[in-house]
Amino acid sequence: MCALYGGIEAGGTKFVCAVGTNPEDLGNVKRIPTTTPAETLGQVINFFREQKGLSAVGIATFGPVDLNHNSPTYGYITTTPKPGWAFADLAGVVGRALNVPVGFDTDVNGAGLGENQWGAAQGLDNFIYLTIGTGIGGGGMVNGKLMHGMVHPEMGHIRLPHDKKADPYHGHCPFHGDCFEGLASGPALQERWGQLAETLPDNHPGWALEAHYLSLAVNDFVCTLSPQKVILGGGVMEQPQLFPMIRQNVQKLLNGYVQSQEILKDIDSYIVPPKLGKRAGILGAIALAIQAHKGV
Ligand code: ADP
Ligand code: ZN
Repeated sequence: MCALYGGIEAGGTKFVCAVGTNPEDLGNVKRIPTTTPAETLGQVINFFREQKGLSAVGIATFGPVDLNHNSPTYGYITTTPKPGWAFADLAGVVGRALNVPVGFDTDVNGAGLGENQWGAAQGLDNFIYLTIGTGIGGGGMVNGKLMHGMVHPEMGHIRLPHDKKADPYHGHCPFHGDCFEGLASGPALQERWGQLAETLPDNHPGWALEAHYLSLAVNDFVCTLSPQKVILGGGVMEQPQLFPMIRQNVQKLLNGYVQSQEILKDIDSYIVPPKLGKRAGILGAIALAIQAHKGV
């Protein structure tokens, strides 16, 4: 019998579940609202119990999460401010209920793995995947392995130069105020401009400011990690006008110092949206299931 994989894209507003093996073979996608861990995970487990012959499940989740296999809270969401979800066990609860191996990682590492298997990062060993949505997170691969480390990268919480005269907005991060996420996430745009980010007109000055912050962050990640590609996903990146501004600003910021074709000549294919589009998250969760099945 062919292997069949379950994917769970766990988000702050919804858990997206699906069964499949690759982008051409992805069954019905089920959306379950994020309420309490017991209720939401109960519905997730019921969905997968109806699917026969699952070989493994992958969970790509919002965080922060515990990825240390030797820790008693491995597979948990840890210090989230989201009510009810701090120290919620995801991997253990799902694995015990379905009795299958569980792959567990951050949403951005999951999406990065999916892009590596089937999307914009195929054949690359070093790349980053950033999501710019309700929060900002980053993951990807270094030397062919998903980035983990002490906990996992928190690329959304780096500090950026913030000219308070040009942009007096105090920032949205509950921990740091005007960190990257505090200045450039969807809710930051909404609070700064007094309307939902998706309702700002294309020519609104907020987009140039957004591209400015995104470019500063991308510049720093290029300098620290030397990624072979930078994939920018999440709701805010649905604004296509951001990409040319970011590409141009990153070239300006680096100022010819990083001598690579990718930056100097091929920037249009260096800073890109996810090739899997809105399915990057769920396909990433399926990719984590495949890894778990192989015992990686
Ligand atoms: P989440 O981060 O919750 O998984 P998204 O990646 O869709 O979900 O991010 C949601 C955030 O992105 C919200 O703050 C929303 O205002 C913003 N957003 C969603 N769609 C767009 C759009 N087309 N243009 C700009 N901002 C958007
Ligand atoms: Zn922060």
